[in-house]
Amino acid sequence: MIICESEKCTGCGMCVDCCIVCAIEMKKVEHGFYYPTIDSEKCIDCGQCKRKCPANDTSIKGQKQLGIYSAWNKNKAKRSKATSGGIFSLLAEKILENDGLVAGVAWDDSFHTEHVLINSVDELCRLNGSKYVQSHTNLIYRQIKNTLDNGKSVLFSGTPCQNHALRLFLGKDYTDLYLIDLVCHGVPSEDIFDRYLNERSNNGSKIIKQIRLRHKKPYWDWSYVTIDFENSESYSELTTDDSYFTLFNVGYSLRKSCSQCKYANMKRFGDITLADFWGFTANSFKQSNYLRGVSLVMVNTYKGQKLFQIISNDIIYEETSEKKALKSNKSLQEPYFISEDKINAFWSDYDIGTSIDELRDKYTGKPFTIPKLLWLRRVKHMYWWLVKRNE
Ligand SMILES: Cc1cc2nc3c(=O)[nH]c(=O)nc-3n(C[C@H](O)[C@H](O)[C@H](O)COP(=O)(O)OP(=O)(O)OC[C@H]3O[C@@H](n4cnc5c(N)ncnc54)[C@H](O)[C@@H]3O)c2cc1C
Repeated sequence: MIICESEKCTGCGMCVDCCIVCAIEMKKVEHGFYYPTIDSEKCIDCGQCKRKCPANDTSIKGQKQLGIYSAWNKNKAKRSKATSGGIFSLLAEKILENDGLVAGVAWDDSFHTEHVLINSVDELCRLNGSKYVQSHTNLIYRQIKNTLDNGKSVLFSGTPCQNHALRLFLGKDYTDLYLIDLVCHGVPSEDIFDRYLNERSNNGSKIIKQIRLRHKKPYWDWSYVTIDFENSESYSELTTDDSYFTLFNVGYSLRKSCSQCKYANMKRFGDITLADFWGFTANSFKQSNYLRGVSLVMVNTYKGQKLFQIISNDIIYEETSEKKALKSNKSLQEPYFISEDKINAFWSDYDIGTSIDELRDKYTGKPFTIPKLLWLRRVKHMYWWLVKRNE
């Protein structure tokens, strides 16, 4: 039994949850990416996994957005811990305060990523911040269904393919389920991340305490990868220079299916879509404080609209256009592209043990110019705002 073409498998893991005889397991197959494997002794050939698989679903319905906004959390501390404008944590708080549960991605003890279901605001810090590694879904779809069937509300946050998977798994709309899909550039390999951490920690001799992959130090669009070690040492490098982040950004370390991602457009599966608002320009005084992070919030359904209204007093926001949303967010326009020859050469070098820094140098070069461009962008924004303010 083949569930879907392996090139199209997103690794969402939902086939594991929908198998009633527990015959499917996600196993690391190549380069740190997980694929479903079927135990033929247990499989009863019911075809449920194949029928529900999002990769086989061709009926993607377009959602016309009800509203598109630039927004950020008024709470400075929460905003600085978040990747963009800190909108996710606000939405999550509202659900948790009303006795609901939130599913999102946390680091596990070995700094791999996993979906977890939390029920208290105290645990929310585990989900804050983007972890740019593919998450293990760990039967989260089943846990969510059980929670909903027990009458509790749930907020789920994940990549678009995981949102699509959850909708197909449930097979019907639950009024108490709220879906947040992130705009997603793609999910990098767990093995690349492991090798990178191994190199940064001197083969594991320094114990890692905390990792922040988009540390706003000092600014959102000038962020750092920061790794804190138990011995009080720290590694910190601009995301535009850090080798793991650069390989993620350019696309070399991403899963094969991400290169043909069917979600890299405005047809969304979440009630609300969250992203970085890279094309943002401040056009009023209250917006001039954008350097701590701006979220692009796309409200796709009436449920999403209700949720957005609930947080509206806690955020600074302004309606924006589809054109502006699309302008600087490539992941809303098309999947990443790197020629097959280059990708194959990259993985061959990876297979012979080439270090992550060497891979970055060989395949992407050192991007010296980007920090300068960021300064130019900032000066341009300030000039534009000063001129506009005096009009
Ligand atoms: C793999 C990945 C790729 C992304 N690519 C883009 C992009 O190309 N363009 C863009 O504009 N935005 C992208 N984002 C989204 C962006 O980084 C922010 O997550 C988003 O704007 C929400 O930010 P926030 O400040 O509201 O909340 P934050 O506190 O930063 O929220 C983080 C949210 O991300 C979820 N999350 C964290 N890690 C993962 C993971 N590995 N898999 C699934 N969910 C995860 C958490 O559960 C939480 O809901 C990506 C995110 C991820 C995880």
